[in-house]
Amino acid sequence: MCHRRAATPGLPAGTLKLVQEPDKAMDFKPVIRTIPDHPKKGIQFRDVTTLFGNPRAFRAAVDALVQPYAGVRIDKVAGIEARGFILGGAVAHQLSTGFVPVRKKGKLPYKVLAEEYDLEYGKDQVEIHIDAVKPGDRVVVVDDLIATGGTAFAAIKLLERAGAKVVGCCFLVDLPDLGGADKIRALGKEVTTLVMFEGD
Ligand code: AMP
Repeated sequence: MCHRRAATPGLPAGTLKLVQEPDKAMDFKPVIRTIPDHPKKGIQFRDVTTLFGNPRAFRAAVDALVQPYAGVRIDKVAGIEARGFILGGAVAHQLSTGFVPVRKKGKLPYKVLAEEYDLEYGKDQVEIHIDAVKPGDRVVVVDDLIATGGTAFAAIKLLERAGAKVVGCCFLVDLPDLGGADKIRALGKEVTTLVMFEGD
């Protein structure tokens, strides 16, 4: 499907419409599957593969996530492994930007910058290639879900150590009780989320 708005005032005929109006009627909650006690007891796992598999929901979610960036200069979209790759790739395509994979430790083949972050038990690490962004690049970070915000926070630190400016972060799901989205907003970043699961 090619989105053109030939008769839109202010845009020349035939201008490619890069950012589509979001599907305002879409309620994303029913298309996200919940798996109780996964990967361990007490965790409600919010499985977005069901949203990815639903053509209307996937399209509507990507359109809604890119909406704040209509008319804004964005140079790169950084997607966090692994579900952030699926979503971030689609967001990058829609914004006509390059894509940066933010990967877990030891996966990238070239020289990396690394950032460690705390998990409930122990530590984890995210990495990017040293040349994945250029100083001054304006970047949007994408992942499927924000909980404590530790992963997104580490990704932001990594990208900014490389000289980029993270202007915003997008997630399908927010678990507000865990405070991650507020932590990222407190850094002055725009945070876009489509669904909240309170009480998680
Ligand atoms: P956090 O660093 O605490 O914000 O955790 C976010 C990362 O962990 C994301 O990459 C999510 O995919 C994953 N995650 C954390 N909690 C859940 C959950 N309840 N359901 C699905 N994924 C989760």
